[in-house]
Amino acid sequence: MPKSSSPAHVETLRADLNALNRLVEISAMLASTLDLPPLLNYIMQAATEITDAEAASILLVEEGSDELRFAAASGTDAQGLIGLTVPLEHSIAGAVLMRRQPCIIPDVSQHPRHFQRVDRLIDFHTRSILGVPMVIRDQAVGVLEVINKRRGQFGNDDVRYMTLLAMQAAAAIRNAQLVRSLEKAYEDLKQLHKLKTDFIAIASHELRTPLSVILGYATFLREEAQGEISEHAETVLNSALQLSNLIESMTNLRYVVMDDTELAFQPLPLSDLLSEAYRETLPLAQAKGQRLEMREPPSPCYIRADRAPLLLALTNVLHNAVKFTPEGETISLSAERSGDEAWITVSDNGIGIPPEELERIFEAFYQVGDPLTRRYGGLGLGLTIARAIVERHRGRIWAASAGPNKGSRFTLALPLLPSQQEGQHHQ
Ligand code: ADP
Repeated sequence: MPKSSSPAHVETLRADLNALNRLVEISAMLASTLDLPPLLNYIMQAATEITDAEAASILLVEEGSDELRFAAASGTDAQGLIGLTVPLEHSIAGAVLMRRQPCIIPDVSQHPRHFQRVDRLIDFHTRSILGVPMVIRDQAVGVLEVINKRRGQFGNDDVRYMTLLAMQAAAAIRNAQLVRSLEKAYEDLKQLHKLKTDFIAIASHELRTPLSVILGYATFLREEAQGEISEHAETVLNSALQLSNLIESMTNLRYVVMDDTELAFQPLPLSDLLSEAYRETLPLAQAKGQRLEMREPPSPCYIRADRAPLLLALTNVLHNAVKFTPEGETISLSAERSGDEAWITVSDNGIGIPPEELERIFEAFYQVGDPLTRRYGGLGLGLTIARAIVERHRGRIWAASAGPNKGSRFTLALPLLPSQQEGQHHQ
């Protein structure tokens, strides 16, 4: 230690070192908190501690206004301050922020900008203030103030510590604000999504009753009436059936938002799934003069499935094959083991799918080609629903095609149940 150092000098150095050490600790703490209220409290506590002040407050910039809002304050009765706004123009904090300069006011009562409403409000006597701007990447976040130094006046060291603290605080507050607004946006989106799903569920439910009346009446007329009326009834019936299919797809959209707990999984023989899907599709294929072939897996295998939704996923794919394949052609449905998965394949030799569309067709409401033509009808939901259901079964679904008019092949890969469970099932 140099001989010239006086004890007072050493004491100042030691205090400086302590304060800087404390600042390093504080910055580590600030970087690890993303929750705004505790973060603000911690900043105020740190500020009063390193400047030996009686109280502190944090004013944050009000987005889109020319005011600052008290976001946190310490000292007697300080809670009454939270939410209070002060104008940028006629306040000390406003001046600090606009000039982007720290400011010491040793005797507040002499100062024209002192915002007396604050003192009156919380029954606190402000003598002196040190305010520093909190700015990050040129963006004003707010102002950090300490009030009433316990001994002596705020000085250059206090300004230095507070400036360092304000830099860290600005970054931490901005991060916390961003996280908060992201959380809010996420909540709003979730709400909106729920609203949409509820609307679809209610609307499709409400449409069903009048539709079944139309279906019943049109069927009756087609059977009972003669000549032209019967033909009209037939047209009405076909339209009503089409509408009924659309409503069905809308209702099935619930599978897209459903979570796993809503599914009832059970061991299911793969061949049961295949033959049921085959039975459901056969009348459609026959109506278009198509052949529907089925090849079952060579040895029995089991998957863990909720039968009805998985059947829906597979029939959606099969119905597409029928729809997008010309009359008289062949559709084939087959299944085989592939490692620890069952691969169910639906192939057709229909209109095919361009390579760049192979993934997009799984998006909701997406159809290949001009959406205005909608030549084949449908809502573009069948594959979205199929994928959601298959994924709930821990499986995958994808499409392959050699291109337009070269047919398509859809594969559903589902995890096979381990053989012991199959064994149990056979007993
Ligand atoms: P939708 O059949 O109601 O239009 P999907 O989600 O089931 O809705 O299918 C989306 C789109 O994928 C279809 O509109 C069609 O363009 C294309 N697509 C699906 N299956 C086939 C297929 N087997 N062959 C050719 N294109 C297909």
